[in-house]
Amino acid sequence: MSDEDQIQQGQCLCGAVQVTLSGGMGLTMQCHCSECQTVMGGGPAYITMVDRSAVTMSGEVGRYTVKGNSGGDVTRCFCPVCGTPTHSELEKYPDKYVLKVGIFAPQSAAAPAIAIWTGSAPDWHPIPEGIPCFVQRPVPRA
Ligand SMILES: [Zn+2]
Ligand SMILES: [Zn+2]
Repeated sequence: MSDEDQIQQGQCLCGAVQVTLSGGMGLTMQCHCSECQTVMGGGPAYITMVDRSAVTMSGEVGRYTVKGNSGGDVTRCFCPVCGTPTHSELEKYPDKYVLKVGIFAPQSAAAPAIAIWTGSAPDWHPIPEGIPCFVQRPVPRA
C-alpha cells in the first residue's frame, strides 16, 4: 500500500470529533511555542501539516483565534465536549490543516523530524538529538 492510499482515522478523547486523513500523515513537527505549551499542559505540541483536501471531519469543534506571530490569524480548534485540541487553521495556509497527531492512534505518527519555536522551550523539554531546530518558525522555501 502506497502512502497515497493510507487512510487514518483520528478522534478526540470522547469521540465527538472524528477526523479521517487520507494520503498519510507526513512530517511530524514539535512546536515549543508558548501558546502550545499552555494548550498542551506544559509540553510541546506534536503536529503535522496536511492538505485540507485530504481531511474529512465530523462533529462540531470549538474555535479560538489569535493573531499568529507572523501576523496571520491562527485558529485553534478543539472538541467542545472533552477539550482535546484537534487541529489549527492558519490564515496564511488556507488549504492546510495543522493536525495534532495525538488524535490518531498511539504509535501512528512518525518521530518528530523538526522542532520549531525552540526559543521558547524550557531546557527540560525533550528534543530528539540531531533534528533541525528553529528558534522560531522555519523559513518557507521560496
Ligand atoms: Zn471530544
Ligand atoms: Zn505552537
